[in-house]
Amino acid sequence: MPTIITHAIVPLAVAGVVGPSRISPRLALAGAVLAMLPDADVIGFKFGIEYADTWGHRGATHAVAFALLVAGGVSLVWKEARSFAAFLFLAFAMASHGLLDTLTDGGLGAALWWPFDNSRIFAPVTPIRVSPIGANFFSSRGVETLLSEIVWVWLPAATLTVLVLALRRPRRAQQQD
Ligand SMILES: [Zn+2]
Repeated sequence: MPTIITHAIVPLAVAGVVGPSRISPRLALAGAVLAMLPDADVIGFKFGIEYADTWGHRGATHAVAFALLVAGGVSLVWKEARSFAAFLFLAFAMASHGLLDTLTDGGLGAALWWPFDNSRIFAPVTPIRVSPIGANFFSSRGVETLLSEIVWVWLPAATLTVLVLALRRPRRAQQQD
């Protein structure tokens, strides 16, 4: 996995780009939580679930289908998420976790297409240094991981958000004239 905070950045950046009128801060926060949630699967190690098992680390919880399922559940029980747009945002937020994991350079890939295909997948390019499970961020390896995430996730997300917001501003100003 990239470090857990980095997963949260993706939906937060999307919410920033789309704007608070469409994605409320609370919905954005829920997206951030869902984006971090799949790695709760590491708890399986304590119960003897192997990395490569269906419910092992980067298994079913990292699948697109699982993200759709959880987002659907949240949309059902939470009024604020009861729109197709909110559902899509939450599903994207959670699915982005598995997608980011496929860009990392270690461990097993993510079971993106579970339950149809259990194979663990990597993207054709894997520029993100994998974060060791239970990483110590103050080790040189931890710093290396953070740096690669800053370059490959934080900077693009921040650049995109700033660009879109900058492009949007003149239009808003025009509307006020
Ligand atoms: Zn993960």
